[in-house]
Amino acid sequence: MKEIRVTLPHLTYPIYCAPSALERLPDLLHRHQVHEPLYIIADRRVADLYEQRLAAVLQPTGLPLFFYHTPVGESAKTLAVAEEIYTWLIQNRADRSSIILALGGGVVGDLAGFVAATFMRGMRLIQIPTTLLAQVDSSVGGKVGINHRLGKNLIGAFHHPLFVLLDPLLLFTLDERQVAAGLAEVVKYGCISDQELFDRLSDGWSDIAHLQDPQQIQQLLTTCCSIKARVVGDDEKERGIRAILNFGHTIGHALEAATGFSTFLHGEAVAHGMRAAARLSVHKGLLPQQDFLRVCSLCERLTPPSIPDSVTEESLLSLMLHDKKHNRSGQQWVLLSAIGQACLTRQVTLEETSAALRWLLDR
Ligand code: NAD
Repeated sequence: MKEIRVTLPHLTYPIYCAPSALERLPDLLHRHQVHEPLYIIADRRVADLYEQRLAAVLQPTGLPLFFYHTPVGESAKTLAVAEEIYTWLIQNRADRSSIILALGGGVVGDLAGFVAATFMRGMRLIQIPTTLLAQVDSSVGGKVGINHRLGKNLIGAFHHPLFVLLDPLLLFTLDERQVAAGLAEVVKYGCISDQELFDRLSDGWSDIAHLQDPQQIQQLLTTCCSIKARVVGDDEKERGIRAILNFGHTIGHALEAATGFSTFLHGEAVAHGMRAAARLSVHKGLLPQQDFLRVCSLCERLTPPSIPDSVTEESLLSLMLHDKKHNRSGQQWVLLSAIGQACLTRQVTLEETSAALRWLLDR
């Protein structure tokens, strides 16, 4: 089993990764001296797919298990659902020594992580992500949170898990669209930090996109998580370099919001955002044209839905003003100086942003 460590000034934790890693959960619980009840949170779809198996795997441990099912989708990431979970924890006598186990995609990971961060001032958390997006990105790095009606992820905390368990076999029940949305984050890692990963994606796209080979997926997951672990280890609270993980997200978030979070999956919006950020990078004289074309070509293979005509340059600009990454000194941009090399800048004018948006919208 591969093991990657996230090392922070105040703590360190492992990410375990292997096909069938789920079967080894009892050993890992023993290794991490978990002897307390497990409060397992999953959305209804993931519960239907994996809960029985998880219960069977855990049965020999003899640990008391409690299960909570959230609604499916982003609508579960609210204070109202968190409050329901607090009630369930209290009714089932959870205390600070109990463990929350998040089984699911980024939504459940963020929500269950937020509950773990806040219930009785903090409980231990185990992340078992089941979407590609969650395995390469959201389960690592400690950001947990919920949405407010005025914006996504506005309420949250940094709360790191005891460990993360990545089992590529859990991804085999995802549909193609969900896989492509997760691959967008993989493409992002290639763009910002790893040219070899980018080349691997370009050369082996069809095998990778069809999740043909669990060993190959394991390699992809460990590459991505190693990058994230390194970046988070250097800058846990996103005071600087961690922001490079937001490549493509400035415009991506605006696109998601402009379409009422109903047209694009997160990764699909990021795929459009990465093309626009690459375009801006060329315009600023940072990125060679041929690298720009390679980024566009890979993003197009993610086949995100087209941007609807109702989305305008003005609406995107206005939404970007309200982005969390926008502050009094302006919008922070993640641009590329080469494939595999990102840089941060606030030196992008409104005219330059508008031009990149017009190009993206093809108007
Ligand atoms: P998600 O959790 O809603 O999962 C997507 C869908 O896939 C759901 O319908 C779910 O039921 C289903 N699903 C999950 N695992 C499955 C499996 N193995 N087989 C079949 N279906 C499965 O969405 P997501 O894309 O995983 O995550 C998106 C969320 O992640 C957003 O809320 C975003 O804000 C958050 N996020 C957080 C971070 C972070 O650092 N904390 C980073 C990126 C994204």
